[in-house]
Amino acid sequence: MAIDFGHSPEDYAAESLVTPISTRADDNEYSLRPQRLTEYIGQQKAKGNLDVFIQAAKMRNEPLDHVLLYGPPGLGKTTLAGIIANEMGVNIRVTSGPAIEKPGDLAALLTNLSENDILFVDEIHRMNRAVEEILYPAMEDYVIDIIIGKGPSANSIRLDLPRFTLIGATTRAGSLSAPLRDRFGVNLRLELYTPEELSFIVKRSAGILGVPIEETGAMEIATRSRGTPRIANRMLRRVRDFAQVRAGGVITRNVADEALTALEVDYLGLDNIDRRMLRAIIEFYNGGPVGLDTLAATINEDTVTLEDMYEPYLLQHGFLTRTPRGRCVTARAYEHLHIPYPGQQQSLF
Ligand code: ADP
Repeated sequence: MAIDFGHSPEDYAAESLVTPISTRADDNEYSLRPQRLTEYIGQQKAKGNLDVFIQAAKMRNEPLDHVLLYGPPGLGKTTLAGIIANEMGVNIRVTSGPAIEKPGDLAALLTNLSENDILFVDEIHRMNRAVEEILYPAMEDYVIDIIIGKGPSANSIRLDLPRFTLIGATTRAGSLSAPLRDRFGVNLRLELYTPEELSFIVKRSAGILGVPIEETGAMEIATRSRGTPRIANRMLRRVRDFAQVRAGGVITRNVADEALTALEVDYLGLDNIDRRMLRAIIEFYNGGPVGLDTLAATINEDTVTLEDMYEPYLLQHGFLTRTPRGRCVTARAYEHLHIPYPGQQQSLF
């Protein structure tokens, strides 16, 4: 059963300010991307480890070990891959799992690399099996086996590749096959950012865009951007429009609040989809547990979208819990939606 909430999911996808996936509004994202490790804010653990691995590889004049970056979208995986290339002083070729359709596509990419180059494969969990199998010997021994001809006369020839680094990015490390996962020497998990880190990112981006911003204005955007730099930068651009029209161009806390409230992002960064998700669990499943597929069908959303983009923040903020039997909302979610918590009511009697 799909419940009509008055908007189609496409409406939300088109207008949602908090989607962490890249949209057309992020077209000038490139200019906001940090280029060096020292400019990359937060992710201390990943950054510290990488710094050591990069320096060691450079001292030995060897390519960096293959790196797997994982974490929700918009946290800086592509940015970090670019930074690794800059720090290593090598070229980077960027592609994505679904874009490599045939083993031949991957062979062409690999044979065109130079010594120590980086191949960045975004959404590596979506690469097909036949392509993936070419990658195993390439990652391990820097060779690929190419089949020439068909049927009984088919021949396999082995080609040597330059020593390269594969950087794979994925939103779900669990979806990677074990043989592929095992071939990455470095596994780095990116975490949601703290409001302080995001506030820093917002101020840095405002500086690049030439927008005056007050400390409290940056913090207001930071606390509403769900731990995600891509969302923080997108909110900054929208708030800038409001600031220009209503406040002489300066981003103050009031302007940020007014703009984001008008865009239906609440004070914790929850948007319509978050609220529909929590409300549906409460109203139709008595607070849960409910399976994610059932929930997605109920609110007419895609399961993967909910799992990758909405759940991480709701879990981190304690609105949702994940149990073996499905998702449950917490007392905090009832409180946030101003719905009386049944647990509390019962305890009164
Ligand atoms: P992902 O590949 O994980 O989806 P991106 O690397 O495309 O994310 O990052 C999205 C945007 O967020 C980038 O344009 C960049 O401006 C910004 N960003 C991400 N991480 C950081 C960071 N650590 N410091 C500053 N800006 C960042």
